[in-house]
Amino acid sequence: MTDHRASHPLRLQDIAAFDHEADVVIVGCGSSGASAAIAAADAGATVLILEAASAGGGTTALAGGLIYMGCGTPIQKACGFSDTPEAMYEYLIRASGTNADPERVRLYVDGSLAHYDWLLAQGMHFKPEYYPTKNTNTPGDECLIYTGNEACTGFAEHATPVPRGHKGQAMGEGGGSMLMEKLIASARAKGVRILCDTRAQTAIVDHTGAVVGLLARSEGRDIRIAARRAVVLCAGGFIMNTDMVSRHAPWLQNHTTLNGNPNDDGSGICIGLGAGGAAMNMNEGFVCLPFYPPANFVEAIMVDSHGQRFINEDVYHGRMGEAILKRYPERHYMIVDAGHMHDFNRPPLGGFRIIATGDTAEELETELGMPADTLAHTIALYNRHAREGRDPLFRKHTDYLRPLEPPYAACEVTPGSGAFFPVFTLGGLRARATGEVLTEDGQAVPGLFTAGRNSCGLPRSGAGYSSGMSIGDATFFGRLAGASAAGSPVRTMPDAR
Ligand SMILES: Cc1cc2nc3c(=O)[nH]c(=O)nc-3n(C[C@H](O)[C@H](O)[C@H](O)COP(=O)(O)OP(=O)(O)OC[C@H]3O[C@@H](n4cnc5c(N)ncnc54)[C@H](O)[C@@H]3O)c2cc1C
Repeated sequence: MTDHRASHPLRLQDIAAFDHEADVVIVGCGSSGASAAIAAADAGATVLILEAASAGGGTTALAGGLIYMGCGTPIQKACGFSDTPEAMYEYLIRASGTNADPERVRLYVDGSLAHYDWLLAQGMHFKPEYYPTKNTNTPGDECLIYTGNEACTGFAEHATPVPRGHKGQAMGEGGGSMLMEKLIASARAKGVRILCDTRAQTAIVDHTGAVVGLLARSEGRDIRIAARRAVVLCAGGFIMNTDMVSRHAPWLQNHTTLNGNPNDDGSGICIGLGAGGAAMNMNEGFVCLPFYPPANFVEAIMVDSHGQRFINEDVYHGRMGEAILKRYPERHYMIVDAGHMHDFNRPPLGGFRIIATGDTAEELETELGMPADTLAHTIALYNRHAREGRDPLFRKHTDYLRPLEPPYAACEVTPGSGAFFPVFTLGGLRARATGEVLTEDGQAVPGLFTAGRNSCGLPRSGAGYSSGMSIGDATFFGRLAGASAAGSPVRTMPDAR
């Protein structure tokens, strides 16, 4: 397993010769690395990607492939939605939470339409079709879907709700692998070389502290790679490194399912730390509790072990997952009613089991071991308000407000109860939006750039995360980092072997 500490850099003066060289050397061939490579090649740089796996793709290729874009993309317009930069900016700032980076959000919003065009130029195709039902992704090859909390209380009052999740034309969860095929093909067509089975180990720095190359392990031997202009770290997050997770984000360990590829082990972050960079937001992560689809389950209520609601149940599954994991080890239940029973032919994606039933709310309450008149009172109050078409306690959207009718059942959704809680990390190297890795003092580390989950990028908060923000961030800011790296000054190096 990769050490969680900074990877100590090698000194240029101790390197006799290099095995490979390029203007820009990129670590990792996921969506951030491939996008950086394309942008650097477009800027005229020679580009080499080092990829630890036997093929490019990374976590991105495992993903559903949703990309968060707005401001009136051709797909939004074709599907009848009108979006504005103001609404998208306001939503993203609120979604970012206390650690928001307004400059980064501004760039992302203002560049969103151009980013859509850039994806088309890489061979992506988006089908102008909206999928209207609440889901974790579009089940067919539809493009547009709500992927966050845009229509939920806390957001909808401040920014007109609009769907911004865009999936390239691929069936179901195939969007990520399709995106990676297109990006890698585009990069290769521009002359980018990809060295697979090659794991970057540490940076090589010159006497000024500038990063001028990398030491890597390739097919059983150490190799040295010269980066004439810059290195771009795009090696993903650290969810597969249990040591780093326990040190930086211990709350993410509680009975969750690690959600990444085996190389999501923080090695890129460690290389950046060793070269003088700082890390930030390392305690943040995306935690998902897929209690839908089917969308009918959004009509259920979520309660704690005292029978009390704590959230508007129409939230995005990430906001729900975070709320429950942060209350661990408190036990939580999804309370369903007669109307949901047939839905268990196709249980919620999270794989919940019914653990208690009751012909009345009181019976269910007793079976769950709750104090008398706690859950029964919650259901009665919820029903009374739902009949009036309102939820004054948590302001759940009226689309999902329906009185719950007996008989009732409870599914346990406590982490560790068998419910599925996939997670990935949102912390990484501190960087400018243009990719320069920053020290604790806020100075740029010369010759070092980063993007994607290797960095602390656009998605700053699990509670505000919308699907598409990570790949949107990785591709958008990957491009900026690649272009910046290609514009870095050339450094003189010993000859490559
Ligand atoms: C099941 C699933 C579904 C998801 N769905 C979505 C979605 O629909 N939309 C969305 O926005 N996000 C989604 N995500 C999250 C998203 O996929 C990732 O956060 C994002 O793809 C990360 O991109 P990246 O370029 O930073 O990293 P990656 O795509 O993981 O690429 C990093 C690459 O670096 C390589 N690497 C690592 N260490 C080294 C090293 N030392 N040397 C050389 N190479 C190295 C890795 O092998 C990998 O190929 C999903 C995640 C999962 C697991």
